[in-house]
Amino acid sequence: MSERKTIYLCLAHMSEAGFEQKYVKEAFDTNWVVPMGPNVNAFEQDLAAFANNKSDGSTLDRSVVCLSAGTAAVHLALIGCGVQAGDEVLVQSFTFCASSHPITYLGAKPVFVGSEPTTWNMDPVLLEKAILDRKAKTGRYPKAIVPVALYGMPYDCERIMAIADKYGIPVIEDAAEGMGSRFCGQVLGTFGKYGVLSFNGNKMITTSGGGALICRSREEANEVMWYATQARDAYPYYQHTAIGYNYRMSNVCAGIGRGQMTVLDEHIAHHKHVQAMYEKLLADVPGVKMHQQPADERYDANFWLCAATIAPDVHVKGQESAYKEVIKTAVGGAAGVIHAADEATTDCQPNDNVEALRVFMLGKKVECRPLWKPMHKQPVYADAAVYTNGVEEDLFKVGFCLPAGPYVTDDDVRYICECIKEAIA
Ligand SMILES: *Cc1c(COP(=O)(O)O)cnc(C)c1O
Repeated sequence: MSERKTIYLCLAHMSEAGFEQKYVKEAFDTNWVVPMGPNVNAFEQDLAAFANNKSDGSTLDRSVVCLSAGTAAVHLALIGCGVQAGDEVLVQSFTFCASSHPITYLGAKPVFVGSEPTTWNMDPVLLEKAILDRKAKTGRYPKAIVPVALYGMPYDCERIMAIADKYGIPVIEDAAEGMGSRFCGQVLGTFGKYGVLSFNGNKMITTSGGGALICRSREEANEVMWYATQARDAYPYYQHTAIGYNYRMSNVCAGIGRGQMTVLDEHIAHHKHVQAMYEKLLADVPGVKMHQQPADERYDANFWLCAATIAPDVHVKGQESAYKEVIKTAVGGAAGVIHAADEATTDCQPNDNVEALRVFMLGKKVECRPLWKPMHKQPVYADAAVYTNGVEEDLFKVGFCLPAGPYVTDDDVRYICECIKEAIA
């Protein structure tokens, strides 16, 4: 029992054949240790081939640009949509901060849209309501719409795209967590004007850190690339007609990405397998419910993370002392630098039994985390407009994430489910 290794939420996992090291070595051997080069080009080709293949055998012709992070991809997509200071951008509230922070980099304003109960993603009804109300209040339509594939679950592509088209507003799909998820057999990120991918250490595949933007055409991809390399004009010296960024992917990182592409399908299959096991093993635990994809064949989630909810009236061992102590480190310990918290609680947090479950599971060496806290409940966005039915806020109180990914074995899943039952008993 004490021999157990901690089961983390989601860890990077290299190909058994070691392709990552082969391509990284190639970068060194050929001295392409710079933010461009053969690995970057080849990785872009691989990603485009992946994004362009539909399940029915037909193909698309999107182009992909590799960048230093998914956050950079969101930033450049917003620029590509013409977002400027003072503009408004509609963004799903239930998400990681990288979906909305780049809006503020541009001096624009995020307007948060609530979730639907089925997918936990942007509610199309609230989206349209927000569009009309912003037009009424400001005289202008928002400049872009950013739906997010939370934990890999597809948003309702059909309705969101229809609404976006109706008002002529471009869509930036944040598919950072949804790499390889499909809607009607088509890869997420290929429906909108732009699609964001992330290769951070904990995502479906990794380049240690990195991201990519799926673009509609070669021309648009070239424009993104121009902005990603400091926006230089064609002179023998540095001539600038626009503000650019240093956002291109390193050729070393792209080598890791090329290797990871060889195991992408395996990773996705494993995430789905783990989800199916949780669904089966937790089916008869009262008050605990796995977040499942809609019973609608258009949806095909990658289950990047497996999420569940626990009813407020389910007692979890130790919940009387939940939140009694101020936390001194980042939850999980691996999240980098955080500011020390002044208080043990905030005005919007998971229920006591969810926090107790997290602590109980940690004692069992299982990492279990709260859901993303809705952005409109973040102090930094206190002044932002929001259109919600409270779905994401309610989910945040009862939800939690369970370990997924290639490192999680069948035995691990059985153990995790037994631990959950023990916590409740
Ligand atoms: C990970 C992530 C991103 C991009 O993050 P990077 O760490 O910058 O690659 C964007 N949006 C969401 C929802 C994410 O989870």
